[in-house]
Amino acid sequence: MHQKPDGDAMGAALGLYHFLKSLGNNVVVISPTNWAKFLNWMPGCSEVVDYELYTQKCIELLGKADMLFCLDFNSMHRTKRMETLLLGANCVKVLIDHHEQPVEEHFDYGASDITKSSTCEMVYDFIVRSPFADKLNLDMATCIYTGILTDTGSFRFAVTSAQTHKAVAHLKELGLEHSIIHENIYDNFLENRLRFIGNALLHRLEVLYEYNTALMAIPKHDLVRFQIQTGDTEGLVNYLLSIEGIKLGALLIDRTEERKWSFRSKGDFDVNEMARDHFEGGGHKNAAGGRSSESLDINIRKFKEVIKQYEYQLI
Ligand code: 5GP
Ligand code: MN
Repeated sequence: MHQKPDGDAMGAALGLYHFLKSLGNNVVVISPTNWAKFLNWMPGCSEVVDYELYTQKCIELLGKADMLFCLDFNSMHRTKRMETLLLGANCVKVLIDHHEQPVEEHFDYGASDITKSSTCEMVYDFIVRSPFADKLNLDMATCIYTGILTDTGSFRFAVTSAQTHKAVAHLKELGLEHSIIHENIYDNFLENRLRFIGNALLHRLEVLYEYNTALMAIPKHDLVRFQIQTGDTEGLVNYLLSIEGIKLGALLIDRTEERKWSFRSKGDFDVNEMARDHFEGGGHKNAAGGRSSESLDINIRKFKEVIKQYEYQLI
């Protein structure tokens, strides 16, 4: 899965893990980095190995592996410090992913489909189209549903298809407890996070009405003050698009190692393209990310320059 895995990356990896294990395989799930605490309840999550904490173990595991499944990313650089290791690994590499423009030469086989709501939906397809569809069980269903839920913004984004709903109906038939999953994901934060969001909305939001754009930049001292952990900032960018008329939302966070961009758009504005061309990133048409090693201020200035060239698509 990609670094700082979200519900879809973790769900896809764990869903596939349970499936492959049910067929008698020896399977290990590796995350390139740590992940949000709100994913810890997922079945199998306690078995996931964090590469940054157990680097040597991961190198050994990969040395012995016959097959590597790459889930919810499309280029090895999305695995951060694992990139070189994965590029050099001597096993069969299989991609299952729904991001645009996969780097095909990094993988031996793959399913890449940008019309899919989530990598979890693709893992569902992989299981039910295999000769072992009868192996689909509640643990797999729980993991798969988590990714579908989070990547569709609770069935809201345009990528949510009839197929997505049919898959979920099938998961419900297996006993899926969707409201418990929803609570585990969305109603499981500390008070601090809510106060952090309040502070960000009040003090860190800038609305650029002339470009139908909302920008939020979070300085490091906010993260320290509110004791913000991995995962606590997820969903924050969505508030920006809730303002009437806003077509582009951009959230910039001063993480220790880098400045991290999250972009969201409504309608035809393509944030994947903007992130690729200007912010060392990519993703999907309406949801993308990027990064920079420059300061917060330089990034804010750069963003305000960049959107000028998209003026006609934004107004
Ligand atoms: P988020 O804003 O939630 O971190 O990411 C939105 C989407 O863009 C996700 O699908 C994520 O995988 C993708 N994404 C985020 N950051 C990057 C990046 O730096 N590079 C690329 N290629 N995709 C990214
Ligand atoms: Mn995804």
